[in-house]
Amino acid sequence: MKKKIAILGSTGSIGKTLIEIIKKDKKNFNVILLTAHKNYKEILKQAKILKVKNLIITDKKSYLNLSKNKLGKIKIFNNYESFNNIFNEKIDYVMSSISGINGLTPTIKIIKFTKKIAIANKEAIICGWHLIKKDLKKFKTSFIPVDSEHFSIFYSLQGNKISNVNKIYLTASGGPLINTPKNKFKDIKISEAINHPNWKMGKKISVDSATMMNKVFEIIEAKKIFNIKYESLDILVHPSSYVHAIIKFNDGMVKIIAHDTNMKIPIFNSLYENQNKKIKTDKLNLNKLNLLNLKKVDLNKFPSIKIIKKLKNKESSLETVIVLANDILVNHFLLKKIYFTDIVRLLQKLISMKKFNNYRKSKLKNINSIILLNNQLQSTINKMIA
Ligand code: NDP
Ligand code: MG
Repeated sequence: MKKKIAILGSTGSIGKTLIEIIKKDKKNFNVILLTAHKNYKEILKQAKILKVKNLIITDKKSYLNLSKNKLGKIKIFNNYESFNNIFNEKIDYVMSSISGINGLTPTIKIIKFTKKIAIANKEAIICGWHLIKKDLKKFKTSFIPVDSEHFSIFYSLQGNKISNVNKIYLTASGGPLINTPKNKFKDIKISEAINHPNWKMGKKISVDSATMMNKVFEIIEAKKIFNIKYESLDILVHPSSYVHAIIKFNDGMVKIIAHDTNMKIPIFNSLYENQNKKIKTDKLNLNKLNLLNLKKVDLNKFPSIKIIKKLKNKESSLETVIVLANDILVNHFLLKKIYFTDIVRLLQKLISMKKFNNYRKSKLKNINSIILLNNQLQSTINKMIA
């Protein structure tokens, strides 16, 4: 029987990688739904190749543009309420790969319609893990992380108890600026910030890699997914991104998890989990293994990493403040409204403001309260940069 699947954010870097995998195995998949925000040309192309019947495109203008095309049997929608019309039974697999906080609502809304959800959208995990976890349990939906470090940890912990873990190290390539002197940071252009040496990713996550905020997010993501304390998590710079995580167990064993520097591997495994399916990969890379070059992060150059020290193990919404504020600031940088160094500088300023720092002690109960906080941050940031 064909596996029924849906992809949230099919036109992005993760979405397209998954589409490439499915294209090679079309006979085993029935793609029920694809979503995008603006890129109506790409989503239509994907729909025609994979014979997809339902598309959601959330940007109004792009939705209208899409509607002007010859659509045949393809139904188009422009909001996530339409999930109720699209799914009449639980499908097998969903990939959540919208970028930024906009992925949270559809991720939560789709859980009840699928047997399994693979989540790449780290912002949704950080801001809404308590809501996601609740619905995973309620609707008996299984979850698999897609971020390469988290997938590696997930894979390596199978058959192990989390209580046997002593420490987990996430590796960081250091991004495109690892060899750039700090005094050049202020004038970093967008093209330099998104020019990642090892990974081809969307713009937002590429800027986060340049500031190293991406690693702050991944530490929070790991803490939530694996229910582990911040003290048990650390970061090691590893420029070639061959090793993704290192786990030290209480029984003295250490697992070092490596795979080709390609998101195809975690995405492929999230789709074909436990099916012993073979993927074409490179030979074991001895050059990279002999030159792991693991080191601590230079905090002077990447002050973003200091933010981790401000986080407490107790459930708090400060992490949500950080993700939302960073989303807005990165957007301002991409619109050339602020300098590269302003992203982390303004972020630190925001989280030390009483009205936002107080979120340390609270838990945002639903999506609406997260949206309200986002609006409050938007207006404060607009005032700061005016
Ligand atoms: P991209 O920017 O390449 O793609 C984003 C996708 O989300 C596109 O389909 C885009 O549609 C859609 N989208 C953007 N804005 C909105 C919106 N407002 N509403 C609805 N849909 C929207 O991102 P990536 O694929 O790089 O990343 C996706 C997620 O996965 C991120 O959270 C990222 O942190 C995470 N991730 C990515 C990795 C990677 O290697 N790329 C690695 C690990 C995690 P459109 O094309 O129409 O704009
Ligand atoms: Mg990662």
